Amino acid sequence: MSKQSVSLETIVALAKRRGFVFPTSSIYGGLANSYDYGPVGVELLRNIRQAWWQSFVTNREDMVGIDSQIILHPDTWVASGHVGSFSDPLVEDLVTHKRYRADHLIEEWAKLGQNSQSLTKAIEDLSLDELTAFIEQHRVLSPDGNPVSAPKAFNLLFETAIGAVSGEKSKTYLRGETAQGIFTNFKNILDSSRVQLPFGVGQLGKSFRNEVTTGQFVFRTLEFEQGEIEYFFNPQQSEWRQLMDEWKRQLWSFVTYQLGINPDHLRWRKHSPAERSHYSLETYDLEYQYSFGWKELWGLAYRTDFDLKQQMTHSGKSLEYVDSQTGDKFIPHVIEPAVGINRIFLMILTDAYSFDASNQRVVLKITPQLAPYKVAVFPLLKNKPELVAAAREIYQHLRSKYPVAWDERGNIGKRYLAQDEIGTPYCVTIDFQTLEDDSVTVRHRDTTQQERVPYNKLIEFLNQQLESTQSGMVLAST
Ligand code: ATP
Repeated sequence: MSKQSVSLETIVALAKRRGFVFPTSSIYGGLANSYDYGPVGVELLRNIRQAWWQSFVTNREDMVGIDSQIILHPDTWVASGHVGSFSDPLVEDLVTHKRYRADHLIEEWAKLGQNSQSLTKAIEDLSLDELTAFIEQHRVLSPDGNPVSAPKAFNLLFETAIGAVSGEKSKTYLRGETAQGIFTNFKNILDSSRVQLPFGVGQLGKSFRNEVTTGQFVFRTLEFEQGEIEYFFNPQQSEWRQLMDEWKRQLWSFVTYQLGINPDHLRWRKHSPAERSHYSLETYDLEYQYSFGWKELWGLAYRTDFDLKQQMTHSGKSLEYVDSQTGDKFIPHVIEPAVGINRIFLMILTDAYSFDASNQRVVLKITPQLAPYKVAVFPLLKNKPELVAAAREIYQHLRSKYPVAWDERGNIGKRYLAQDEIGTPYCVTIDFQTLEDDSVTVRHRDTTQQERVPYNKLIEFLNQQLESTQSGMVLAST
């Protein structure tokens, strides 16, 4: 398995320099675990969302989508178990009073020297008591070298309030996941569409968690975007193991084929019974090898009928399904593939980053379908009005088809390098020959090769190139 060669610092610096990601509120000194997406980053994010929606909703007969609120009725979160037990084990540095996740602290500690040998159990499997005992026994210290308090469960839900008058405000929450808006709408979806089991409901949208672990860039943020699917089925008619295998194949194929990720940087990890939520019969994480280690990209969980049952009990409203053939009434079971769009974003930047030593350039080899700009257009010289006018015409024409970049600053070599760094697959240069024979130079990002293409064939040429560069299909790995 190849090791990730690019450091997180390199990605963070590139992201800021080229307008992918900025630390949020930087003019006020920033805000922990919060980032804004710049002019180039926002295009990549939109392309990721679009690819997700296209693959999992538009292209499938057995899927529909919804868009529920960020602020739901607060009882939703009591029913789902988030108010009671959506927590992380936190410790406090007894000197600086900074807080850390106990499991993350032990993970860092285990990386030091021979420490990993002291771990007889996977960190994910340690209970709150076991974490406490471990920290005491091994004198695990904070990153500043100070002793820490015993871990306490800290709820991750963001509290907020509805109402303008203080004292009359009612407490509610920003959603901790998008999934519950699917469960609470289950009856509405059944009544308003023609869905029949098995079917899935997909949703893309913001979720919020009070995370304290810092330093993982957009991998772990307070506010993030999720792509969640609830796939409902009748457990008497569909084999859940088969459905899980099918979903594993679909996710793997999406990540490798659609997103163009190197399969050597991906693996499935099955949760042990101790790590798994009590209501889940099987959970897998699709992990990506980020520059700070193997981490969860996508969760895949068989959640039985737990969520629908909980929402039904707390609301007092039926969320049952009636089989149109047999008349049987029952609560469907569900499989949930849940991913963070921002974790996909970081994975793409990491996987696509390469340094071409022979040409001394950084190239972001993003699959063209996801590239923020498909094409860049340059006049060879800025101070030749006839070149600029011809280039502007081509630029305006291409813009009606794709997102296109324009650059006329500096020399042409520097402009190519700037586009390589943001992953633009093709650069079109208008030079003196264009004025004579209506041909342009097309330069390919990955090879730096250039060829002349007649202007009236340019769109056709680019379309062909964009279609043929779809990365090869990689079959599921289990
Ligand atoms: P982790 O163990 O890394 O905290 P999780 O198991 O709590 O993640 P889930 O509750 O399964 O995550 O959420 C589904 C998906 O949402 C995750 O696979 C991840 O891609 C994404 N996600 C969760 N928390 C965050 C976050 N704070 N920032 C960005 N993405 C997140």
